[in-house]
Amino acid sequence: MATKKTKTKETPIDKRETFVSLGKNFADSADSVSEKLDILYQLQSTDTAIDRLVRLRGELPLEVQTLEKELEQIDGKMANINAAIDEHMSSIARNKAAIVDGEATLEKYRAQENQIQNSREYDAINKEIENQDLLIQIAKKRIDEAKVTINALKERLEITSEKRNIIAEDLAAKQADLETIIASTAKEEEVLLAKRKSCTALIDERTMVAYDRIRESNSNHLAVVGIYHANACGGCMHIIPPQRLVEIKSGKKVVICEYCGRILVNKEQ
Ligand SMILES: [Zn+2]
Repeated sequence: MATKKTKTKETPIDKRETFVSLGKNFADSADSVSEKLDILYQLQSTDTAIDRLVRLRGELPLEVQTLEKELEQIDGKMANINAAIDEHMSSIARNKAAIVDGEATLEKYRAQENQIQNSREYDAINKEIENQDLLIQIAKKRIDEAKVTINALKERLEITSEKRNIIAEDLAAKQADLETIIASTAKEEEVLLAKRKSCTALIDERTMVAYDRIRESNSNHLAVVGIYHANACGGCMHIIPPQRLVEIKSGKKVVICEYCGRILVNKEQ
């Protein structure tokens, strides 16, 4: 804390500190006001760049996660279709075996039929033959039905598989993007964090508390802003009175926006 003033050493830091309450301390500082404003602006720019990196990374992991979930669901759907196909295949196998058995039984009955002595026995065996024949017909019908169902399921499987390929491709691309961003931003972030550290080392604790508080309380995370469109606050867009504009441009005075409490510096925004 190179710039910590003897005057503020004994005063406990107020967490509700604003730039307005710090304005006087600024003016009392041994460092020139313009130098301090410049460091604060550098800190703000660095923090804005860090925020951007975090945001950039913040969206991709969510997209990757969503795609992974979709892929998982589609895999479950495909597993269900495959299980249904397997079930119908074994039903076909069972019915085929039933037909083989049925035909063997039929042959046995027909052989018996040739040795029949009376009409009562003949009627009985004929009834058995009829029944067996019917069972074989039912088994054949079931096989045909199963084949139709399997074809429909295979069609569904193909459509689902195409969808899966699209999602998998999308996922692979997004994963690659994320890896690239992480790899590239890691270096950038390291540089920015080092820059941030060198800035904060030059700013006194009280000012840092106010800076952090104002940054956290705003959705755009801006505590130090430039001049927007030549005459408005870069933080809240309110018009700056001409007298204050002159003060900002001089760079010799700490000017706080009356509306949002942010520090205004002589930069175009
Ligand atoms: Zn403002």
